[in-house]
Amino acid sequence: MTTPDTTALVLFSGGQDSTTCLAWALDRFARVETIGFAYGQRHAIELDCRTRLIDGIKTLSPGWAAKLGENHTLEIPTLAAISETALTRDVAIEMGADGLPNTFVPGRNLVFLTFAAALAYRRGIRHIVGGMCETDYSGYPDCRNETIKALEAALNLGMARNFELHTPLMWLSKAATWQLAHNLGGAGLVDLIRDHSHTCYLGERGARHEWGYGCGRCPACELRAKGWHGYVAGT
Ligand code: ZN
Repeated sequence: MTTPDTTALVLFSGGQDSTTCLAWALDRFARVETIGFAYGQRHAIELDCRTRLIDGIKTLSPGWAAKLGENHTLEIPTLAAISETALTRDVAIEMGADGLPNTFVPGRNLVFLTFAAALAYRRGIRHIVGGMCETDYSGYPDCRNETIKALEAALNLGMARNFELHTPLMWLSKAATWQLAHNLGGAGLVDLIRDHSHTCYLGERGARHEWGYGCGRCPACELRAKGWHGYVAGT
């Protein structure tokens, strides 16, 4: 039986982290819905990956297929309109004077989680799952555990609900995230994530590397490659 307490909403962008989070949620909850955001990002390719990943996950496990519910997409172009960053404008990725790469969209995860909570509210869902991580990350302040805890408190006050925000990757290295995918879904899930999830900031899918597709040079590809090599080496 599915109840608000056995249903989860996963922030699912089509990247490595969010796909691993989706498997984590399918392993724990009776019913799982997904939400992705279209906000004018250059790598709208991530959103295209979502369908392939969901189809792949259904093929991997009939049990997971039975648990998968609606895959929602919310259009929030306002985020692009107020952002001057490499993800949403045609500018080169570089480090800013504040030490953050200019791929940073200020407050993006706050906006995503708030929209996710509003949708969860309407659908009677208590658990919200996101791939935020402050172990191997680019220093985005809205990925920090402290930020997520504060937002959880704010959402529960502001919506008079008892949401739980789950961030299963918060303390995992990228290598450990690959290992988690293996533990949850075996080699089949690792292969699916490697071949069909998308992480590259530039939205490149031309070259196939050991760790999947991407430009191989942007900070996201570098993190993904480093994690993959660590995973293969067992570190
Ligand atoms: Zn890249």
